[in-house]
Amino acid sequence: MALLTAFLIVLYFPQNDIEDYSDLFYTRSSSDAESGDENKPEIDVPGYENAYLIKVNETIVYLKDSDQVKKMFQDTIDKYDDKGNFQASILRNSSRELTALTVSVNQVCDNSSEKLDDCIVTAGLEKAIDVPSSEIQPEGELSFDSFELGVKDVHFNEPVEIVQAYVKSDNIMDIKDAASLITENQETQQIYKVQSGDTLSEISISTGVPLEDIINMNDALENESSTIFVDQELLITVPKPELSVVWTEQTRVEEAYDLPIEYIYNDEWYTNQKVTHVQPSAGYHEAIASVTRINEDMVSNDTLYEEIKMQPVAKVVEIGTIVPPTYIKPLAGGRLTSGFGKRKAPKAGASTYHKGVDWATPVGTSVYASSGGVVAFAGWGRGYGNVVYINHPDGKQTRYGHLSRINVSVGQSVKQGEVIAASGNTGVSTGPHVHFEILVGGTQVNPFDYLY
Ligand SMILES: [Zn+2]
Repeated sequence: MALLTAFLIVLYFPQNDIEDYSDLFYTRSSSDAESGDENKPEIDVPGYENAYLIKVNETIVYLKDSDQVKKMFQDTIDKYDDKGNFQASILRNSSRELTALTVSVNQVCDNSSEKLDDCIVTAGLEKAIDVPSSEIQPEGELSFDSFELGVKDVHFNEPVEIVQAYVKSDNIMDIKDAASLITENQETQQIYKVQSGDTLSEISISTGVPLEDIINMNDALENESSTIFVDQELLITVPKPELSVVWTEQTRVEEAYDLPIEYIYNDEWYTNQKVTHVQPSAGYHEAIASVTRINEDMVSNDTLYEEIKMQPVAKVVEIGTIVPPTYIKPLAGGRLTSGFGKRKAPKAGASTYHKGVDWATPVGTSVYASSGGVVAFAGWGRGYGNVVYINHPDGKQTRYGHLSRINVSVGQSVKQGEVIAASGNTGVSTGPHVHFEILVGGTQVNPFDYLY
């Protein structure tokens, strides 16, 4: 349908009158009758009529005439501009073919101006190079009186395409229905990619989608404790309008406020190491704030001018910059036969407290360095049989037991994933398997807390 209408527009649109056409839209007072006549097709198809197609993202609505189009956009910005200082106008879309129009929002310079339209700043490129009023510095000393309060800028956040169309009368909506489709929240499906360290409840909080909904939408999830992995793609629905309004308001505030945290970067520490050197305390000020929102959501909050009543203290934190090493499973495949912790001794001489993890695997399976490091021991160990110890730069040690063959020697540097040995059944062992340990400060910990 969209293709067909686009084709019809090209046919019916009087190409040489484009300039006049956009001017007609531009002035609020001009009558639509003229443009309607000009664009009337030479043949009338029953059940079809001239209308305006408005497209935002993939959503299309049709309105009867240009006054309705303007009114729909004006109503949308009036929700945020209660003083009526901004006006929506329809103009030629210079980035598209000649027949396309778009909507632009312009400030009405002076409400008392006799000729309102003379005062509207030309939209498009010229508007883009205008200096925002908040950046113009008044002469002399600044004070609270130097700032004009209220809404200083309004524009639409998404591109809008408008074309005249000859369409089935049934498709034409009233303003209310069209506005609701375009400007009210719609359930939008999005993909969330799981980040390292995410939990389902954190994802629920950060996306604003209830945990229950996330579980229902994704077949891979059974309940809130279902396992998720890095880079897994989760389906979430987010309420979002097709068209949103970006608006900036200057307000005078009197409030407690915090300074941003000051970071001291330490190139010799890992990113998970940090020390707080100075504890923060809030300040109190009277200020002119410039707050930008997309619909109701704040996206920035700048202080343009302030008088401080109580000096704040910033929190000072020293933090590392080196990404800590990761640990990977030391073999491909294998069947997990024993986890970390208490267990029944599988064989006389075996421990009842299992200090590592066992994966059953045929003798000769490649054993990988779980992380980069230096070989600290390679040889026969009591209970372990043939065993390799690797020391890692973050202070951890990994151990690989019951090996059939050892490929590395003490002092050798190994990379993560490098083959260091072949699996076996040596030492105290009930069958061919890899026994794997991670030690922190010389004590075995549950490897699954660290495996990536
Ligand atoms: Zn074991």
